[in-house]
Amino acid sequence: MSFRAPVQDYEYIMRHIVGYGKVSATARFEEAGEELTSAILTEAGRLCEEVLSPLQRNGDLDPARLEDGVVHTSKGFAEGYKAIREGGWISVAASPEYGGMGLPMTVTTAVNEMMSAACLSIALNPLMTQGQIEALEHHASEEIKAIYLPKLVSGEWCGTMNLTEAQAGSDVGALSSKAEDNGDGTYAITGQKIYISWGDNDFSENVCHLVLARLPGAPAGTKGISLFLVPKFLPDASGEVGEANSLHVVSLEHKLGLHGSPTAVMQYDGATGWLVGPEGGGMAAMFTMMNNARLGVGCQGIGAGEGAYQKALAYAKDRKQGRTPVAGGTGAIIDHADVRRMLATMRAELFAARCIAMANAVAIDMSHATREPDWAARAALLTPITKAFGTDTGIKVAEIGVQVHGGMGFIEETGAAQYSRDVRVTAIYEGTNGIQSMDLVGRKLMDGGEAAHTLIDEMQRFAEEARATRPLMAGLIWNATETLREATEWMVSQTSMTARFAGSVPFLAAYARVLGGYYHLCAAVSEGSNGPRTKLARFYINRLLPEYKALLDHAMQGDADLYALDIEDFDVA
Ligand SMILES: Cc1cc2nc3c(=O)[nH]c(=O)nc-3n(C[C@H](O)[C@H](O)[C@H](O)COP(=O)(O)OP(=O)(O)OC[C@H]3O[C@@H](n4cnc5c(N)ncnc54)[C@H](O)[C@@H]3O)c2cc1C
Repeated sequence: MSFRAPVQDYEYIMRHIVGYGKVSATARFEEAGEELTSAILTEAGRLCEEVLSPLQRNGDLDPARLEDGVVHTSKGFAEGYKAIREGGWISVAASPEYGGMGLPMTVTTAVNEMMSAACLSIALNPLMTQGQIEALEHHASEEIKAIYLPKLVSGEWCGTMNLTEAQAGSDVGALSSKAEDNGDGTYAITGQKIYISWGDNDFSENVCHLVLARLPGAPAGTKGISLFLVPKFLPDASGEVGEANSLHVVSLEHKLGLHGSPTAVMQYDGATGWLVGPEGGGMAAMFTMMNNARLGVGCQGIGAGEGAYQKALAYAKDRKQGRTPVAGGTGAIIDHADVRRMLATMRAELFAARCIAMANAVAIDMSHATREPDWAARAALLTPITKAFGTDTGIKVAEIGVQVHGGMGFIEETGAAQYSRDVRVTAIYEGTNGIQSMDLVGRKLMDGGEAAHTLIDEMQRFAEEARATRPLMAGLIWNATETLREATEWMVSQTSMTARFAGSVPFLAAYARVLGGYYHLCAAVSEGSNGPRTKLARFYINRLLPEYKALLDHAMQGDADLYALDIEDFDVA
């Protein structure tokens, strides 16, 4: 079975669910109308189906390896990367000033999701470069922009992000890499970074690392961190690759999955770097890259889930087992109620997560196009939800995909297990999902819950109107939004952050559940008949949505019971 890019689903969501028309109505994105975006998505879909999807197994069976200090990528990845680069898929949203297409983030989001569905390992490479492009566009000097952006936008050079050190994972502020002023406009960077995705490759002319490090005398914690651009090869006077910089790949990690993506330990030995943004402004600059990457990683989860779903569906239509329990059935396992439950769950969850990601991208585009703070607040609210729910959905869907295959799901040659292994890391990197949910109940509710309540109000108004045509589903969504409103008020009223954090993961999951239900209701209303979108909406709203009640009960327990357990109480008696 070959992968099919879900282009029609993106188009439907853009047109009927997340209001993409608002984006293309702005002056900034007036050229990105339906016709153009449809042509772009179709072309990207072709790349994913014909070029990237055949590489998926290569990454697993022929992992990236380090030999004599050189990273060798999986079979076919160099050609795959060339096709991504030549198609301009790295720079869909990048500024036309440096050769990018200047299209909305909504379009990039769909393209990134498809690439992740086709081959997650290779798709991670352009995602890193995209984030770097955005960080440089916002924070770098004009000289750096002039040298680096055309090369990154064209894909001749790749980008990476270097935050993590052995003692500084979630706690980025604990990092100890050093930067010293060389007195000539450059800095000497020294330190070791671990887990660096695509730390090197054998297909781009240069690899440009954005590295967080501390200047002498900088304060402890995140305030003392600055950001530096440290290329593998130093650009010469004409901006072309020159001499090698003092950095190297120490080793590549042996991982659970995502074997086609080289995850490197990077050593910097007084490597030459350039400051990006102000001294001590490293975290702010890196956040530009991280927010971009968080939306992108959410889409990685959704994409991997899509790939797993398509494989499971094909298997369920083909595999014959047991008596056909339904009249006129096909005789394949798809006839069994429990297999239908699994497939419907996969499809309904993916639709919900995809809508959330696309709504997030629309909010980013509207914020860029209008500069209205409400759109920025909406984008900020949705980013941790997209990241955590998108990746949790990918993990859940890929895991169900293994189950649909029965024993064959556990046998590597079907490729079902690869989705599950590859997608697992998406809940860990770019800030673990625990950290995302703390961001939601912490920083994102610091406005007194205004952004969260505004979205709840919108959902509730829609449910109220939908009572006329879809009374049962609309009533259930209305009730869910009301309970979510009360739980949000409870969260905001907690002065103890630990009390909030103790319930943050179920709160985020419940918020996403309700949002997903709202988007399914939107689909049912816009479809207007008893078609496939309405049937899927009914499934989601009747069977999956009710989880919000238990999740919100859990979210509002506070922290007392967790800390009533002494550390010794965790020990096995
Ligand atoms: C394959 C792979 C690729 C990666 N790519 C990159 C990359 O390109 N660049 C880069 O810089 N990094 C990268 N990372 C690193 C990744 O971002 C970190 O692994 C991640 O941020 C978690 O840090 P940690 O591993 O140190 O875990 P820890 O921070 O030790 O976390 C362990 C557990 O404790 C929890 N925890 C930690 N602190 C808190 C807290 N304050 N409150 C509540 N819970 C907490 C976490 O949620 C987690 O469950 C990559 C990692 C992997 C595995």
